[in-house]
Amino acid sequence: MSLKRTIAGTMQATLDTRRYLTNFDSRRISHILTDVLVIGSGVAGMRAAIEAARFGEVVLLCKDEFGESATRYAQGGIAAARDDGPDAQRHFEDTLRAGAGVNRPEVVRKLVDDGPARVAELIEWGIQLDRVGAGLALTKEGGHSVHRIVHALGDQTGRELVRTLRERVGEDPNIRVFEYCFLIDFVTEDGICRGAISHHPTHGHQLIWARRTILASGGCGQIWRETTNPPGSTGDGIAAAFRAGAKLCNMELMQFHPTTLYVAGAGRTLISEAVRGEGAYLVDKQGRRFLFDHHKDGELAPRDVVSRAIHEHLTKTRSNAVYLDTRHLKNFAERFPGIERLCRDFQIDTTKDLIPVRPSAHYLIGGVDVDIDTATSVDGLLCCGEASCTDVHGANRMASNSLLEGLVFGRVAGLRAGRESRDANGKSPVSTVVNVIPASTRTPLDVADIRNSLRSVMWRNAGIVRTESRLKETCEILGFWGHYVLDKTFDARAGWELQNELTVAWAVATSARKRNHSIGVHFRKDCKKATPEDFFDVILVRGDHIS
Ligand SMILES: Cc1cc2nc3c(=O)[nH]c(=O)nc-3n(C[C@H](O)[C@H](O)[C@H](O)COP(=O)(O)OP(=O)(O)OC[C@H]3O[C@@H](n4cnc5c(N)ncnc54)[C@H](O)[C@@H]3O)c2cc1C
Repeated sequence: MSLKRTIAGTMQATLDTRRYLTNFDSRRISHILTDVLVIGSGVAGMRAAIEAARFGEVVLLCKDEFGESATRYAQGGIAAARDDGPDAQRHFEDTLRAGAGVNRPEVVRKLVDDGPARVAELIEWGIQLDRVGAGLALTKEGGHSVHRIVHALGDQTGRELVRTLRERVGEDPNIRVFEYCFLIDFVTEDGICRGAISHHPTHGHQLIWARRTILASGGCGQIWRETTNPPGSTGDGIAAAFRAGAKLCNMELMQFHPTTLYVAGAGRTLISEAVRGEGAYLVDKQGRRFLFDHHKDGELAPRDVVSRAIHEHLTKTRSNAVYLDTRHLKNFAERFPGIERLCRDFQIDTTKDLIPVRPSAHYLIGGVDVDIDTATSVDGLLCCGEASCTDVHGANRMASNSLLEGLVFGRVAGLRAGRESRDANGKSPVSTVVNVIPASTRTPLDVADIRNSLRSVMWRNAGIVRTESRLKETCEILGFWGHYVLDKTFDARAGWELQNELTVAWAVATSARKRNHSIGVHFRKDCKKATPEDFFDVILVRGDHIS
């Protein structure tokens, strides 16, 4: 049962999405059978696979090398209470405060109460967390009232987390990992998910039949021109779930990270909030700490406040970047070796120079609508991690809560899928499924060009500051592109990713129009600020549109 607070919107038309992106005929392609299919080898997918494998066979699918994911690039750490008593209560309160008070309390409770056990389990599995003396080294980021974030290799927590989980997955004889295997669509019959159709460069199209399927495909930062997310974060799984009939929830809630390196030619690499947590200042080109003009907590104000303050400052002063001042920090290179190395590559000496930064799209708070047990609105399909919307983050995610979310709800999804697949009688069903798409009569297109344009439009019109007129324009542009992007049948990843990005971008812009107030990370310049009582869940299903 969904726990969501829905709005009754008037649905008038639709983005022209087809049920499946590809032609296939089950009589002519290879079949794979498993108890549980997991999409994604980030923290959520790997944790889910480990749990599900206690009950039966698992296939873990990932479109790149095993372990390549947003998880791998996480810097700051994993937030977890020290105990499941008073410390968990403080974590609970901080998370609700950061989320503007609209988080689902019961889901937050589960997150914080399970935190200590999930970190203890990682330690048992061999993760090398940073230590001070006999204890764990703890850091603090925006929104946290105490030091409770564990980290590894200084600023490379994600790398160590992926290494640990990969080893655990690799040792499990019940898990088969399919690398470079692209989820195209979920296969449904009578509204029930039966598995997925995938594509592998060598093996071609394959039908993977599963009693239960878990989606853990991460976020969609790539739909914005400026993003911290790796190239694979194109929202494929969210778009596939949407095509299969799953509800999407609060897709407009995208968190923009305030500080990514801004050097021409360099990728938008994140400069962790932990750098400010350890005392770095944010200054403008005159060297002034301008954040206190916007919030009493200055550099440690919530991320949305800091991102908007930088955006406003850049617009007002017509500048390209603001700066992180780390010159006064002792042991910066030891505490943040990855960031220090990155800066050095661009001839920035963190003991003498300022680091140029600006905000980027970072973390999708919305996603596939799920209940507290990770069930989506499609039977047989579960979802966890960044691809899902559990409402755990409310309107603003507190720093370092998402790796924990992946661990806690990945386990929930694996447990549920494992139990349900064990209890389901008989073999996984295999049936005849055929999908034939008529050939497109519209003009051919340049995939790379449309993709660049899409990312620019989203950054300009559906970024940190939004208005109805810009969002309406965005929906119109995306609808227009949709006519000749979504009617095509591609035979490789770039085309399917573009179709998914277009679908997800449309969902973001449409949801941003529906949320006609400002709250948390969603800032509408033309609307009033909402109180928690004004908040509602923006739910989209295939066929929705506002004109
Ligand atoms: C630079 C950076 C730093 C961060 N730092 C922190 C931090 O310090 N602490 C914190 O809590 N959070 C942090 N976050 C956020 C956090 O890393 C993510 O929210 C979290 O890792 C998401 O995990 P996930 O398992 O849901 O998805 P991901 O880790 O993104 O994994 C998604 C997986 O799905 C696969 N996939 C996607 N599409 C397909 C497809 N079509 N077919 C097959 N496979 C597919 C991908 O290959 C990948 O394996 C950071 C994020 C970034 C980008």
